[in-house]
Amino acid sequence: MLEQQEPAGRELLEEIAVLPAAFVPQLLELADEVRELHCGNGANVEVLYNAKKGGCSEDCNFCSQSARFATDVQAEPLSTVEGFTAAARDAHRRGAGEFCIVVAVRGPSNKLLERVCEATRAIKAEFPLTVAVSLGILREEHLSQLLAAGVDKVNHNLETSRRYFPDVCTTHTYDERWATCQLVKSYGLELCCGGIIGMGETLADRLDFLEALQVLGPQEVPINFLNPRPGTPFGDRSLVEPTEALRFVAMARLALPKALIRFAGGREVTLQGLQDLGMRSGASGLVLGSYLTTSGRSDNHDFAMLERLGFEVLA
Ligand code: SF4
Repeated sequence: MLEQQEPAGRELLEEIAVLPAAFVPQLLELADEVRELHCGNGANVEVLYNAKKGGCSEDCNFCSQSARFATDVQAEPLSTVEGFTAAARDAHRRGAGEFCIVVAVRGPSNKLLERVCEATRAIKAEFPLTVAVSLGILREEHLSQLLAAGVDKVNHNLETSRRYFPDVCTTHTYDERWATCQLVKSYGLELCCGGIIGMGETLADRLDFLEALQVLGPQEVPINFLNPRPGTPFGDRSLVEPTEALRFVAMARLALPKALIRFAGGREVTLQGLQDLGMRSGASGLVLGSYLTTSGRSDNHDFAMLERLGFEVLA
């Protein structure tokens, strides 16, 4: 497969999904070689900015920002433009090449969209950052404004398989998510689309999820591992076993050889002492420091790891 440079198909992925754990180290090695072949040794480092925290109308069962669950997240209003630019300045200073603006909403209001566009223009004028946005369900008029403001990339996750999605969220549908992803692509914006592993989905769901991503063809695939949040319906779920987490990242690399596969939320709690191995399992990027409502480890640890493993941090 490495020679043919073909994405792994369903049959091969099914076999990999049930490979005995003893073979996982070889699988990770293969995924790492495929990453190097298609993505070189560049590592994309991103900082997330939670520009409107909590109070979300939706009921995603993993999310502590939903207004429907009693969690420790205190809702905060939308940031000012100065707040956005200060956060972007900080991300740039810390060495990130990408800055992702995230808001906890079903979809953007006109006021919110205008603020994000104004902030994007200000950030692009001042910093050489890739600007991504995660604003929920989008329509055509939203995308034309984001494009005009200079947004580079839109994040919208499928989260899981079509079959399992109704167990994760009931206030919007998988099809609505799919439609937003398609729309993002039709506007020529980069699409960042991934999901969360460990929400109770089956192995077949994980394979369906990867297959759907192959159809969608996002430029970036953020992979999160459930970090169960107290007060949410998934708050009592177990963490994903580290070997299974690494196996999934390797499968994602083999399924989507050219994509930016990014380690996102839940990396530290799931992998614990296996962070280095994580970046040797096919991933080509990571989120630095904090994940909207939870914190990761220090920037120094991550930059030292990337250097130790021979990655070059992309500007
Ligand atoms: S994941 Fe997003 S849409 Fe779902 S509840 Fe959380 S903030 Fe709202």
